[in-house]
Amino acid sequence: MAGTNFIKVIIEEDVRAGRHNGQVVTRFPPEPNGYLHIGHAKSICLNFGVAADFEGVCHLRFDDTNPETEDQEYVEAIKRDVRWLGFDWGENEYYASDYAEKLYGFAVALIEAGKAYVDSLDEEQIRLYRGTVTEPGRESPYRNRSVEENLDLFARMRAGEFPDGAHVLRARIDMASPNMLLRDPVLYRIKHAEHYRTGNAWCIYPLYDFAHPLSDAIEGITHSICTLEFEVHRPLYDWVVEQTHRPPRPHQYEFARLNLDYTVMSKRKLKQLVAEGHVAGWDDPRMPTISGLRRRGVTPEAIRAFCDRIGVTKVDSRVDIGMFEYSIRDDLNHRAPRVMCVLNPLKVVITNFPEGEVQWLDASYWPHDVPRVGSRKVPFSRELYIERDDFMEDPPRKYYRLAPGREVRLRYAYIIRCEEVVRDVSGEVVELRCTYDPETRSGGAHSHRKVKGTLHWVSASHAVKAEVRLYDRLFTVPDPEAGEEDFKAHLNPASCVVLADCRAEPSIVDDPPETRYQFERQGYFWRDPVDATPDRPVFNRIVTLRDSWAKVAAEVGVKTPVFPAEPPAPTGTGDPFRSVERRPGEALSPKEKIRYDRYRNQLGIADEDADQLARSESEAVFFEAALAVHGNAKSLSNWIIHVLRSERREDGSMPVAPEELAALVKLIDEGTVSGRMAKEVLAEMIHTGTAPADIVAAKGLGQISDPEELTAMIRTLLERHPDKVAGYRSGKTGLLGFFVGQVMRETGGKANPELAKDLLETFLNDR
Ligand code: ATP
Ligand code: MG
Repeated sequence: MAGTNFIKVIIEEDVRAGRHNGQVVTRFPPEPNGYLHIGHAKSICLNFGVAADFEGVCHLRFDDTNPETEDQEYVEAIKRDVRWLGFDWGENEYYASDYAEKLYGFAVALIEAGKAYVDSLDEEQIRLYRGTVTEPGRESPYRNRSVEENLDLFARMRAGEFPDGAHVLRARIDMASPNMLLRDPVLYRIKHAEHYRTGNAWCIYPLYDFAHPLSDAIEGITHSICTLEFEVHRPLYDWVVEQTHRPPRPHQYEFARLNLDYTVMSKRKLKQLVAEGHVAGWDDPRMPTISGLRRRGVTPEAIRAFCDRIGVTKVDSRVDIGMFEYSIRDDLNHRAPRVMCVLNPLKVVITNFPEGEVQWLDASYWPHDVPRVGSRKVPFSRELYIERDDFMEDPPRKYYRLAPGREVRLRYAYIIRCEEVVRDVSGEVVELRCTYDPETRSGGAHSHRKVKGTLHWVSASHAVKAEVRLYDRLFTVPDPEAGEEDFKAHLNPASCVVLADCRAEPSIVDDPPETRYQFERQGYFWRDPVDATPDRPVFNRIVTLRDSWAKVAAEVGVKTPVFPAEPPAPTGTGDPFRSVERRPGEALSPKEKIRYDRYRNQLGIADEDADQLARSESEAVFFEAALAVHGNAKSLSNWIIHVLRSERREDGSMPVAPEELAALVKLIDEGTVSGRMAKEVLAEMIHTGTAPADIVAAKGLGQISDPEELTAMIRTLLERHPDKVAGYRSGKTGLLGFFVGQVMRETGGKANPELAKDLLETFLNDR
């Protein structure tokens, strides 16, 4: 695992101090009630990753104490997915249901110690007695049953004498605790249901808060890592383990769960999508499940790289799906040979090319990576197909594709000119009659003749007919769970578009079925592992090439998403911003006006910035592309106008890609780097082309990214103030604020206060 994080820092400290004899044992504890999703992948990478880093082990434990929803099918799927992600639990496959007898024994011991009792209130009454956040709870009238009566009732609960809900076993802790979870939590309930492993052996089942810490303790887990929502459960976790086990014992640590835009991440909701037929199954390529991503064509390497990239923090946030798509592209870019496939064919006849003749032209698989060798032959003949979208009868000025009388280059082949348009009776264009210039093939006399556009194409008689499935985001809004409506109201009706009549170049026939391709100008694809056969190729789109750009380009009417040189903004004072003499929003072209209104009224960008941005086509395209990745319009426009503009390259192009700027602004917004540090990061991005997160990590410019540094500082701090440490430990917990303040001062405000507080608490409390 690249980089460090606060969990690794804690573990490192434990190993150094010789706790647990220097052993590290983690676990990944899925409940087998659904398939794993990308959020689980984050937890898997973290748990298996830290175990590997410290030469420890990671257990795979099925947290299966709820008979109603669990199933062997899910167990198998989970094992398949963890293995596919590249992790190995070896012999350490465990089931909480295997601990049923042991857990029962612990419960009996708690009763004997007067720390648990059988309560006969019903569910509703228990809830009412529990009180509220502002009012203490009331004790159940059954709370003071004798040990004997409790033991008797609990045994009879197990024996099946009572119906569901008649009694529960509760811990006897504190009905007035400010932590509601400590108000005598329920440990066992009666449930007459068949369990997929234990069958009808049991009719009482332990709850998560009892089963989970004890499973950890039974297995000798050292670091029990879970998501933030379990933070409030930690005192109960500790209580349960302390009542039943001697030290050393497991400790729980929490990190922020992964939330990904344009999808949902709860097994319950994913199950609903499957059950109601909104998707074709758990492995539908639109699903955020591991099996869906696998079928779509995403590789385990891409998922692991993504998990590394998002890091591990204690700050809950949503991750832009652009970040995930970036990781997928980044991975495929190196492994996917470029080939040609026409998705929406339009016939082209080369009238001056001899009938029956075929030329086999050499075409590199890696045109983007010039030294890399590897090529195939593509047939050129009199009848070809090009993309229907690559022809326009009446094109706008900046349309660089084919149009009557215009020329384009066919990739790896010749320059052609459109001479004639053939229509059917309904007036639809069905064929283009073109001529080619035989001297424009590479090596020919006119091979360097320049034309603006290059198109992909296939030879009509050689091409392979294929079905192509274009997958898009499953939901139309970033957070489908946010609003009042049911999340399914936001399903994207166009999330799967099937094109039944596509034509791929013939070379693909011989490739291994698992080959991932880049279909030039279209995106990354691979054969659907379920539906494709040698006779009937079916391709899934794994990810688009640059989704945000295509969309934005369409919106602002730019066909080719390049950033052409632009005359520099008028200068007078040397500051382009100051030199504007018009009032904002005045003297704009209609297109600029539309942009200006959107920026100012919809996105809330300040007048003058909105005006500046609206007037520059290339900056507008750049801005929209960045905005699609990270939605902070004000900050992005500010960076583009006031920072990037003066950093443009000599040819006028932007010095970084829009996604890169978006990633930088995101780091600022998440509090990972300060605005001042971000300027340093940008300078480095321009200089080396490195991704901002990597720069922050490598140079230690960040707040969260270097908890190690904080730890060292905190240690010195605590040594310097033994009196305050003692004070804190004797109950003056308000001193935490003093320590946080010290850390902030020492770091010149760079420390992430949340992280500082967590680390301080860990050191002050636990040790
Ligand atoms: P869901 O709400 O989707 O059903 P869950 O937490 O109930 O998820 P479990 O099978 O209990 O699912 O999860 C196994 C482990 O994966 C737990 O340790 C849990 O904290 C972790 N996990 C689940 N969802 C995420 C997520 N979105 N990000 C990171 N870790 C997660
Ligand atoms: Mg769970």
